[in-house]
Amino acid sequence: MLNSDPLRYVLYIDLSKKNFHIANRSDLFSAYLGGAGVASRLLMEECPEGADPLGPDNPIIMAVGPLTSLYPLASKTVAMFKSPHTGNLGESHAGGRSAVSIRMAGYGAIVIKGASERPCYLSVQGHKVFFRDASTLWGMGKSATVGKIIRANEPSSGLRTIMRIGRAGEKMIPYSCVTTETYRHFGRLGLGAVFGSKKLKALVVSGKRSIPVTDQKQYREAYEAIFRNATESPVMKKYHEIGTPINVVPLNEMGGLPTRNLQAGTFEDAGRISGEAIAQNYLGKRIACAHCPVACIHIAAIREPYEDEPYFYKTSMIGYDYELIYAVGSMLGGSDVPGMMKLIDSIEAYGLDCMSTGVVLAWATEAFQRGLITEGQTEGVRFAWGDYAAYQEALALLVEQPNEFYAAIARGSDFAAGKYGGQEFSIAFGGNEMPGYHTGPAAHIGYLAGARHCHLDGGGYGIDKKMMVNKSMTPEMVASELLAEERWRQILSSLVVCFFARELYKPDMILNALRLSGFDHTEESLRALGEIIHTTKFRFKVREGFSFDPLKIPRRIYETKSPVGMIDEAFVKKALQTIQQDISEKLTNDAL
Ligand code: SF4
Repeated sequence: MLNSDPLRYVLYIDLSKKNFHIANRSDLFSAYLGGAGVASRLLMEECPEGADPLGPDNPIIMAVGPLTSLYPLASKTVAMFKSPHTGNLGESHAGGRSAVSIRMAGYGAIVIKGASERPCYLSVQGHKVFFRDASTLWGMGKSATVGKIIRANEPSSGLRTIMRIGRAGEKMIPYSCVTTETYRHFGRLGLGAVFGSKKLKALVVSGKRSIPVTDQKQYREAYEAIFRNATESPVMKKYHEIGTPINVVPLNEMGGLPTRNLQAGTFEDAGRISGEAIAQNYLGKRIACAHCPVACIHIAAIREPYEDEPYFYKTSMIGYDYELIYAVGSMLGGSDVPGMMKLIDSIEAYGLDCMSTGVVLAWATEAFQRGLITEGQTEGVRFAWGDYAAYQEALALLVEQPNEFYAAIARGSDFAAGKYGGQEFSIAFGGNEMPGYHTGPAAHIGYLAGARHCHLDGGGYGIDKKMMVNKSMTPEMVASELLAEERWRQILSSLVVCFFARELYKPDMILNALRLSGFDHTEESLRALGEIIHTTKFRFKVREGFSFDPLKIPRRIYETKSPVGMIDEAFVKKALQTIQQDISEKLTNDAL
């Protein structure tokens, strides 16, 4: 074994009682690796059936993996909780320094339960936990300021991560996020609201342990093989140079870039919001998660003059990626890059999930245009495609919720459509607003049937790409590919490696790295484990009320041409039925 310090400890924190304990859970880590595997078991253990997602019983679980701190791009933390947005599985991944700090503090996972009476933040320093008062931080306008204050007040030796919420999380908006290291997010499914419900403003974790390796030579060889692949791979080079927004142009050319609430799959101004154009005109710097040589995170420098001070400028540094550009660019019909970036910055300051926010604003724009909502309800905001001044106004009102309309859109596009009409163009799947790929049926089937209702579940856009060539793919084939991919990704999420590195972490590379970390696996045993983890997630979802039967499919997906043509309703339904049957069978198998 290379790593003589395997993951085994879970830190349990109770915010109600203000106490904590540490347990040796090598039983969990030896069976489920770490990350999503361990977190899904802890969720089943710690979340009582029917728990209120915004009540003290809902646990926040953060888990890292056996490769964390040892190998390049094993940089993510998995957060699991019951989602206040969908009412079932909440799972979100973020990088920054979160994973490395948790491991350096000595933990494989952290479980936070209960709720504090007063605003607080937690500071985990190795085996000590401090419950700090956060009354003065609560209600602060900019979540970045909160980060600065905590940074100044917490010891900085070793590796430290600061995960924090903004006003949206405090107000328990069900699609609010948790920000870590300013530019990374546990974005989807409402972890920010769960923090807010516990009056937990932030979680700081620091540690300065090291991980002893017993065979330097083998470790170096394994490390260098992955590092070399990461730095020499053309895909990673592309992510470093332009970042994920490199996808804007090709998606637009093929007709898969959701535009104006998916009324179209192409955007006439895509060139202006392309990764290439933004890099050329606004790129300020690139940064990386800890232990990542790729540095795909792109930060725009947006310079604005002060109103009454000629020749004086303020420069805002704003993180961007493909999903954000889609959600508040093409989806809102906007191509004014400074306006778009400033909207991203405000969403960031409030601590909202940018994808859900963009899709909610897109629904509101179409609903306004169709007369389903009026200026009386919008407090005078005239929603119009690409009008960033109007979107800024609406965003502030969405967070403050001065009336029923803003309270409704603060609960998501499906909720608002249930109240005002327009369900057919509320582009949400399982309650979660759409990611940025209208590439064909597989993408949408993936959003509907994936455990997180997210493009990262089964990567359906990759299957759509195959369908562009292979026109004879059947619904059963699509269902089987989506399930196989989602089950394999459970292994990547348990290790926990960045999904951008999924082509680098091939089975043989993973098996070698795991062997050196003390895990004896075969490709078959890993695939079997992926199936177990996937089934555990669905066991939780079904227990909490998820069902394929009333799954709402937005009609808009059938009305807008995709790169593989018009999407056939019967095809989507057949594939969903096949997936449902497969998962139902697995759920009846007690061994899974
Ligand atoms: S590729 Fe990007 S998101 Fe992934 S670990 Fe590296 S910097 Fe973080």
